[in-house]
Amino acid sequence: MLALPLSWPLENRQVVLIGAGAWAIRKLTLLNRTPAKITVFAPLADLADAHARWPEASELAEAALIIVAFEDRAMAEKGAALARTSRAPLNVVDFPDLSDFHVPAIIDRGTLSIGVATGGTAPVLARETRRKIEAAVPPSETEVAAFATALSPRLRELLPNTDDRRRVWENVLQSPAAELARTGKIDEAVELALALVNVPRTGVVHLVGAGPGDPELLTLKALRLLSEADVIVYDRLVGDGVMDLARRDADRFYVGKARSNHSVPQEQIHELLVEQARLGKRVVRLKGGDPFVFGRGGEEVEALRAAGIEVHITPGVTAALGCAASAAVPLTHRDHAQSVTFITGHAKDGDPDNNPLLLDWSALSAPHHTLVVYMGVATSKILSEKLMAHGRMPDTPALIIENGTRPNERRTLVSLSTLADTVAANPPKGPTLVIIGEVAALYKDQNAIAGVVEEAVRLNA
Ligand code: SAH
Repeated sequence: MLALPLSWPLENRQVVLIGAGAWAIRKLTLLNRTPAKITVFAPLADLADAHARWPEASELAEAALIIVAFEDRAMAEKGAALARTSRAPLNVVDFPDLSDFHVPAIIDRGTLSIGVATGGTAPVLARETRRKIEAAVPPSETEVAAFATALSPRLRELLPNTDDRRRVWENVLQSPAAELARTGKIDEAVELALALVNVPRTGVVHLVGAGPGDPELLTLKALRLLSEADVIVYDRLVGDGVMDLARRDADRFYVGKARSNHSVPQEQIHELLVEQARLGKRVVRLKGGDPFVFGRGGEEVEALRAAGIEVHITPGVTAALGCAASAAVPLTHRDHAQSVTFITGHAKDGDPDNNPLLLDWSALSAPHHTLVVYMGVATSKILSEKLMAHGRMPDTPALIIENGTRPNERRTLVSLSTLADTVAANPPKGPTLVIIGEVAALYKDQNAIAGVVEEAVRLNA
């Protein structure tokens, strides 16, 4: 971060504005929405209800903040020099170099205010971002904020313990009381919230698909659950960017491969989920891709149900779909493939050489059929041999995608007959998927695309 967006309570504080013209009026309009006591100096005598002169040093001594707003740099510098006689932090509108602090782009929802800051470097970007947030945080949030403000002292009285209060707050903000508040019935909403406090809370587990890595591929529901979770249990396949979107003070449990290279056994994951849910927590079990595609989600659901825990599933973009999209390879195509099968190359007993992979090879080897192989690196030799032995052509294209949808994505187009050697010569380190079938030939590598871009630039010039 270039700047730290802070929030400054202004109740019973004095803010001094020194300025002229439209810039000063804009700042005055903003300040009027705060509870500050505002004193305005308008040396050009162009503002109503203002002292029509520069301030004296003594008039700035008590200021909590000073804002100088002139379009003219020389005037702004003069205002800034006067302001410097006070210890109050200074903002000089549109002259970040003269300022101690900048005013972020603000989304005003009453008690709830949201600031978007770029450290003064990109105000237009800040405004654009504000526009998006305005759309995402409905105006009715003002009502919810008013409700929260009214409820706060009542809850403090009822529940002196901070932890208890925090838990209740989270419930309250997603309860029917908050919905009632949105309709403007603040008092009724407060009473309802207080009535709900004593209803005991039961834990719940959400199995949530985190997608293949790119955080923008999360569903809106996954994003909401991540921001509401008390506990997040995640593993190696969950992209870092995804975890950045999770609630900051959620407890996080990593159950992927540790440095010892041993993952937490599945039974222990079940125990952890059950234990946390029994504490009344909202648990998110975050899984790479989709929880129900080679994700052992089914086993976790069974274990949770057996323990009597409420469980819900939120799907995710599975690796096959994410990788196909990022490589722009359609998995089906009227001319090339009428069906697609997702298979796992993982040998159940863990021994790739000795495992027959219990698959229907003749069905999988039919032409005009796309195969997407998960966890297929270790068994790529036996896999390609079996497919060729059952009639799949050795020159069938195969696209190897490592770290699909992530910044370090790597793709290699080979054929069925060279797949195993390619993988052996350059073993992938990240999660890797193989798309086998006629459609893979539609892949254009990045160099080819770069060539097209160069050509376009040349033609334009
Ligand atoms: N539930 C997950 C799959 C888990 S199995 C899903 O729906 O995607 C793990 C395998 O998924 C990996 O071995 C790899 O084959 C594949 N995989 C997961 N993420 C991937 C990614 N970003 N790029 C390529 N393959 C990926």
